[in-house]
Amino acid sequence: MADASTTQLALIRQLKFCAGHRLYRHESKCAFFHGHNYRVDLEVVAAKGGDEVDEVGRVVDFSLIKKRMLGWLDDHWDHAFLIYEEDKNALAAIQMVEPVKYFVMPHNPTAENMARYLLEIVAPHVLTDLGVIARQVSLWETSESCAVATRSEHPVAIGPAMPGTAIIKDSRSSVTS
Ligand SMILES: [Zn+2]
Repeated sequence: MADASTTQLALIRQLKFCAGHRLYRHESKCAFFHGHNYRVDLEVVAAKGGDEVDEVGRVVDFSLIKKRMLGWLDDHWDHAFLIYEEDKNALAAIQMVEPVKYFVMPHNPTAENMARYLLEIVAPHVLTDLGVIARQVSLWETSESCAVATRSEHPVAIGPAMPGTAIIKDSRSSVTS
């Protein structure tokens, strides 16, 4: 590639998962327990930026993005209930259910906060060593509504915080999804 190229290459991988949540202190129906079929559009760029590609011509193989990010989503958010850590009432309720899978979030689980969590905390963790960084996460809560979290500057490769872990309580011997 020419040194003077101004082209920036990026990849977008679409990922899907289902989850339940409610919005703590919401004024209307979003305060009720409910769920969504979420869609994530994860955009990554080469850690060094620009138009850098490997010898095959890729920023990174799409399958690696899927394996890492969808793997995390499957383990922690898919078929789980996302609860804000301050929402003690919802936490008490979900802890009475068995079997159950839930994930405690440091912020209310709005589409905005979920997109930001994936961009700032999960993506740097799961994309480690792939030579790419997440530039943008679009989180579609419905087919009409999407929140977008974008790095305002070229981001650092590794984020400081570790993602949380889903809590799974299940006394059955085997689970099929
Ligand atoms: Zn909702």
